[in-house]
Amino acid sequence: MDNNDLSVLRHSAAHLAAQAIKELFPKTKLTIGPATKDGFFYDVLPERNFKEEDLVAIEERMRELSKKNYPIEHQEISKEEARKIFSDNPFKMELIDQIPGDTVGLSVQGDFKDLCRGGHVASTGDIKHFKLLGISGSYWRADRSGQPLQRIHGTAFLTAQDLEDFEKRQEELLQHDHRRLGKQLDYFSFHEDAAGFPFFHPKGQRVLLALKNYMRTLHDKYNYKEIATPTVLDAELWKRYGHYDHYKDNMYFSQIDERTYAIKPMNCPGSFLVYKQRPRSYRELPLKLAEFGHVHRYELSGVLHGLLRVRAFTIDDTHIYCTLDQLEQEILTTLELAYQMLEKCGFTDVSLALSTKPESAMGSDEQWQKATDALENALKKLGKPYTIQEGEGAFYGPKIEIVIKDAMGREWQTGTVQVDFFQAENFDLTYVNSEGKQERPVIIHTALYGSLERFFAILLEHYKGHLPFWLAPVQVRILTITDDQKEYAQNLLETLKKEGIRAELDRSSDKITSKVKSAQLAKIPWMFIIGNKEVDAGTVSIRYADGKQEFGLNVDDLIKKAKELS
Ligand SMILES: [Zn+2]
Ligand SMILES: [Zn+2]
Repeated sequence: MDNNDLSVLRHSAAHLAAQAIKELFPKTKLTIGPATKDGFFYDVLPERNFKEEDLVAIEERMRELSKKNYPIEHQEISKEEARKIFSDNPFKMELIDQIPGDTVGLSVQGDFKDLCRGGHVASTGDIKHFKLLGISGSYWRADRSGQPLQRIHGTAFLTAQDLEDFEKRQEELLQHDHRRLGKQLDYFSFHEDAAGFPFFHPKGQRVLLALKNYMRTLHDKYNYKEIATPTVLDAELWKRYGHYDHYKDNMYFSQIDERTYAIKPMNCPGSFLVYKQRPRSYRELPLKLAEFGHVHRYELSGVLHGLLRVRAFTIDDTHIYCTLDQLEQEILTTLELAYQMLEKCGFTDVSLALSTKPESAMGSDEQWQKATDALENALKKLGKPYTIQEGEGAFYGPKIEIVIKDAMGREWQTGTVQVDFFQAENFDLTYVNSEGKQERPVIIHTALYGSLERFFAILLEHYKGHLPFWLAPVQVRILTITDDQKEYAQNLLETLKKEGIRAELDRSSDKITSKVKSAQLAKIPWMFIIGNKEVDAGTVSIRYADGKQEFGLNVDDLIKKAKELS
C-alpha cells in the first residue's frame, strides 16, 4: 500500500461522507470533496448550519453505508445528462461547464451519484477505518466575497492499527494543545468581539515580555538598534512595496483626511522611512534596525487557529542595511544569534535551508552569485547542516529558512533571513561610499521568532505547558504549612521580588497538599515550602515542578541559582 492508495481511499471516504450527508440532510448542496495530506474534506452548502453533534449522525450513517458494500462505479456521461442530474445544484453546474470536452465523470454508489473524474476504491465496504474530525468555514472557490460554505473534515486509514495510532496521537496533541493550556493557565483568550485577535492576560503578556526582553539582550550584544514605527500608514507605501497587488484582500484599510491608510501587514516600509530620514554614510553600515512590529492580516475565519493563525501578531523584525561585502558576516552573525535563541528556548533540532536564484529574478547574475556565495560561506562557517533549495529564492534575493522540530516531532518554520536587492532601489535608499559616491545598500530582512504569538504557542506545546524558569510568568510560589510562617514568608517574598524574581505567596488557608496541587496545576517551576523548621533555621525547602524535593536550602544560594536560570 502506498500513498496513492491512501489518497484514493480518503477521496472515496469523502464521497461516503457526502452520501451520508445527502441521506440525512437531502437539501444540502454538495460542492467538492478532495483528499488532503492528512485526510479529506467535503465543502457543502447546508440546509441549516451543521454542528459538531451532527457529525456523530453522519459518521454513523457512513458506517451503515460501508456495511451495505455498494460497488463504486465510474461512468462517463454526456454533459447534457450531467446537467439533468445536477440541475438543482449550481456548484456542480458550474463545475460541469468548466470541464473541457463533451463528457464528464460520474461516480455511482447505491442511489448516490457524484460528479467526479474517478480514482476510487472498488466498493463502500473497502472504507472501514475512518473518522470525522470537525467542521470549519470555507468559501466556494476560496473566494471570500463568494458563497460561504461549511467544510466537513475527516480522515481514513488502510488499517485499524493506523487509525488507532492516529487517534492516540490526536489525543496527546489535544491534551497539550496551546489553546487548552492558554485557557487552563490563564495566559490568553479569544472573544467574539474581535475574532482572530488574541487577548493576553497578565501571565501570558509576561511570557511575551520575557521573549522580547531576551531578544533585546541579544540585540544589544550584536549592535541592533530598536525602533518603533506607526501601525497606520499611507496605503501608497504598500503599492510601492508590491505587497498591495498580491495581498490587498488580506489588508485592513482606513480613510483619514481623505487619504487611504492601511493598517500595516508588514514592518519593512516603516524601517525604510527611518533609514531614509537623513543621508547615510558607509561608516554607519552595517546599520541594524530592529522592531517588534505589531501587524494585522486578514485571514479567513476557517483558517484561524488559536495563536498559530491569528489576524494580528508581532514580528521580531530586523532590517540590516549593509554593503555586499558585509553580507557574509551579517548573515553569519544573524544565524549565530538565531542558534543562541533557539537553544535558550529548548530547540536543539534545527535545520537550515538556503533558497537560491529563481528563473526570473532581478539584479545582475554577478550580484546574485556574490550574495549566494556569501550566504553559503556563512552557512559553512556556522558549521551546522543545511540543504539547498535550488531556484526557490524570491525574485529579489536568496534566503535562508530556519525550521525547528518540537518535542512531539513536528516541524515548524519559524525564522527567515531574506536578502533583498530590490527595495533599496524601489524606495531610493542610498548611502555615500568612501569615495563620496551614492550607492544602494543591500537589505537583509530577518525574523527569528517569526510571529511572537505563534512562537509562544509552539513553546507551550513543546513544553506541554511547563515553560522553563526564565519564561515562566510566575517562577516561584511560596507555600506555608500553617499560618504561623506567614511573616517569614512575606519577608521572603519581598526579598525575592527585590532580586527581580517573579514570585508570589499562596495566601489561602488551604492544607499544604492542596497548595502544592494548585501550584502544580499552574505549572510553576519552583515551590518554596515553609514550615517551622525552615523559619527556625532561616532556610527554605523546595519542591520542583517534576516532584523532586530539596530541604533546608540557603536563600542566597537559591537567589543566585534563580538568576543563573533567568
Ligand atoms: Zn471521486
Ligand atoms: Zn522586511
